[in-house]
Amino acid sequence: MWGNSATQSRDLRTGTPVWLPEGARGGLGAAPHESLVADVAIIGGGISGALLADAALAAGRSVVVLDRRGFALGSTAASTALLQFELDTPLTHLTARIGKDRAARAWWRSAAAVDALRGRIADLGLRCGFRDRHTAYLPGDVLDVAGLRREAEARARIGLRSQYLNAEELRGLAGIDRPGAVWSGGAAEADPVKLTRGLWRSAAERGARLFAPADVQDIVATRQGVTLALPGGIEVKAKHVALATGYELAKMLKPRGYKVVSTWAMATWPQRRQLWPSRCLIWEAADPYLYLRTTLDHRIVIGGEDEDVADAKTRDGLIPRKIETLRRKLARLLPEADDRVDFAWTGCFGASATGLPAIGPVPGAERCFAVLGYGGNGITFSVIAAQMFQRWLLGLDDPDRDVFSLG
Ligand SMILES: Cc1cc2nc3c(=O)[nH]c(=O)nc-3n(C[C@H](O)[C@H](O)[C@H](O)COP(=O)(O)OP(=O)(O)OC[C@H]3O[C@@H](n4cnc5c(N)ncnc54)[C@H](O)[C@@H]3O)c2cc1C
Repeated sequence: MWGNSATQSRDLRTGTPVWLPEGARGGLGAAPHESLVADVAIIGGGISGALLADAALAAGRSVVVLDRRGFALGSTAASTALLQFELDTPLTHLTARIGKDRAARAWWRSAAAVDALRGRIADLGLRCGFRDRHTAYLPGDVLDVAGLRREAEARARIGLRSQYLNAEELRGLAGIDRPGAVWSGGAAEADPVKLTRGLWRSAAERGARLFAPADVQDIVATRQGVTLALPGGIEVKAKHVALATGYELAKMLKPRGYKVVSTWAMATWPQRRQLWPSRCLIWEAADPYLYLRTTLDHRIVIGGEDEDVADAKTRDGLIPRKIETLRRKLARLLPEADDRVDFAWTGCFGASATGLPAIGPVPGAERCFAVLGYGGNGITFSVIAAQMFQRWLLGLDDPDRDVFSLG
């Protein structure tokens, strides 16, 4: 799995995500032909790297970015891109695990991150299918109806935009027959490939230098700076390095309680009948949970069925069975929907013990910062990582360092 590289090597996804129809590749970046020097080097051309680059440029740093595959071609292309502040671990459960103060800060920081992303997309004028959405959080084996009521109250008490809906209200807004749900404002959806490529194009216009394919084979960090070794004797020297390598973990990281699992998703044909009135994001308080969203061309994207499988061959072999399960679940939840499958895909996914990501300076490696945006809110966590990275570059403390730290 390690090979001759500074990071693990994984088959990140299989199948055709709805955002990346067959053959669509996008020509950002070129292979490096000579050694390079920059203030900041970023390893990883996905959504995490794109947001970190944006933050580094805003802080006035020169930026070089390296990706072994290409830009927005890793896990980001497989994302279903529900942009939520609601964490996988309910606020009531997270409070019991990490305490009231830290749980509230984790949830608040996530809410602020979705707002920050909305603002940045508007500032940069990115056309990426970004739409504000509400969410409906349905009862399941993690929270029943009584648990959902308590969850809605706990969130509202700390100022988050959640309330409990009864069955009738839920039917009116989402067309779903369930006894109730937590209804939240402040979420959104986007096309993750357009979002990430838009950020990269903007970064390039502001002077970032993008290279792909460029496999970072070694990282040597000292007090004076960091040197990255690439094939052909090429080196990149930088004052700071960000590891945004997604589920291909860097060798220098030893996070505890984090693991790579597998997930599956599908998109229907564009729906002829009207979609549910609010077009809210829908997900379940269940483990594993099911989630749904719509696309600008009126498809339904549905995903979940996560399983503790890290091996790509086993994962890929499960595609027919998992997609059929997703299709059947869609038919049961929304009997009037056209459940014919147009796109099906699977990919690596991260799970952590608390549902929180690990973000921060790498213990024992000078000048290196890492983002492990594990969990169902990977993109929200990438935004938090970019904010923390910017402060770290500027020598400023971050008030939530203890909630997300890598140590
Ligand atoms: C099916 C699915 C559904 C998801 N749904 C959601 C969702 O609804 N909402 C949400 O917020 N999140 C979701 N996620 C999670 C989210 O998509 C991820 O957290 C996010 O895309 C990770 O982005 P990244 O930039 O960290 O990783 P990636 O996009 O994988 O980018 C990392 C890059 O690093 C490069 N790299 C690795 N090692 C090296 C090296 N040694 N040298 C050079 N380059 C290297 C890789 O080539 C890769 O391109 C989902 C994920 C999947 C798979």
